[in-house]
Amino acid sequence: MTVQHTISQLASQCVLCGLCIPHCPTYRVFHTENESPRGRISLFKALADGDLSLSDPLFEILDHCLGCRACENMCPSQVNYSRISDLSRQLLAETIHSQQPVKQKIAQSVLQNRSLRSLAKLSGQLMKKGQPSLAHYYPVDNAIGQVLLFTGCTGELFETQTLLDGIKLLNACGYNVLIPEVQQCCGAIKRRQGDLDGMYEQMHENIEAFTPLLKDSQAIISLNNHCSGQLREYHDLMVGSDSEMMAQHSFDIITFLQHALQKKKISFQPLEHKILLHTSCSLKNVLKEESALQSLLAHIPGPGMHTLDAQICCGAAGSYRLQYPEIAEQLLDDKIQQIVLYNSSLLVSSNLGCSLHYKQGLKKQGLDIEVIHPVSLLARQLSVER
Ligand code: SF4
Ligand code: SF4
Repeated sequence: MTVQHTISQLASQCVLCGLCIPHCPTYRVFHTENESPRGRISLFKALADGDLSLSDPLFEILDHCLGCRACENMCPSQVNYSRISDLSRQLLAETIHSQQPVKQKIAQSVLQNRSLRSLAKLSGQLMKKGQPSLAHYYPVDNAIGQVLLFTGCTGELFETQTLLDGIKLLNACGYNVLIPEVQQCCGAIKRRQGDLDGMYEQMHENIEAFTPLLKDSQAIISLNNHCSGQLREYHDLMVGSDSEMMAQHSFDIITFLQHALQKKKISFQPLEHKILLHTSCSLKNVLKEESALQSLLAHIPGPGMHTLDAQICCGAAGSYRLQYPEIAEQLLDDKIQQIVLYNSSLLVSSNLGCSLHYKQGLKKQGLDIEVIHPVSLLARQLSVER
């Protein structure tokens, strides 16, 4: 069966009920059928069937999709939107290579993007400042096990402190932490770009790096919900016993710690103020573990927490906020309005992309609110006398 046939067949499962539409962030922004899941599925099908040909405006409508998977989560007919989107993006990428105007447009938008330039500048600054580098092994007295840490492509550069905090907590729970030196991006970025061959290559490299170590380790832990979601889907994306092993052993640190803290009693110092929780789309729609964040943070005594409405994506969506900053900012504004209402000085987010997006938006609005990863908050509140 050709890729086109597969897309067409999967898209035919959509019964056009429209139940997904109110949950789609781009529909909330544009209020048009084309910018809804039902509209996109019809457009992907028409492209696959050869009833439509790719143009710049059509490419942009399809590319506006944030990949939040809210539609898939809500669909009563269980339409596999992510598979339709992955295969269609692959076809679009191939078409783009043969259509210079679209290709130029993308290259231009990336090169001219201010956020992307500032991201590159930030990475340069971090490297110059010599952030603490990661040791590869942390022996624990009376260890109850060992876990492997997935740092991915941005981990050591942007999240060094978060990684160190995660290791501190895993050690406190009795786990040695091993960081395989040779590891790759989880593949989510190439997946979004429609470069499925590139994604499979990265997945293969990670499988080769991690699975042989699983004979002495219980789990593969990621600190970024987006990577955790991709790792969990390795077996859905690639058939084989190794990809199955990789997927079955992959956990987001939130879920892993939540279970670990049920077995190991650790005390945390109380917080003075109420905290706000952001639930990422990966945690809610891909991992389907949104309650884990609340349960984990409930270990910190204090006045409690409030969870921001997680129905609609914040607009970060990996590199999306760099590609379509106006849509991303519009979606973030709704969240910031909620944050202002709850008058808290602490926002907890377990997704790197979302955290950067919030930090940028809060700064722009002059709001002095700290955005922190849950493991950093837990590590900060960890009582010294353990
Ligand atoms: S909810 Fe499912 S079946 Fe209904 S329109 Fe959306 S994708 Fe199609
Ligand atoms: S994945 Fe998200 S943005 Fe894309 S069509 Fe579905 S709900 Fe809309």
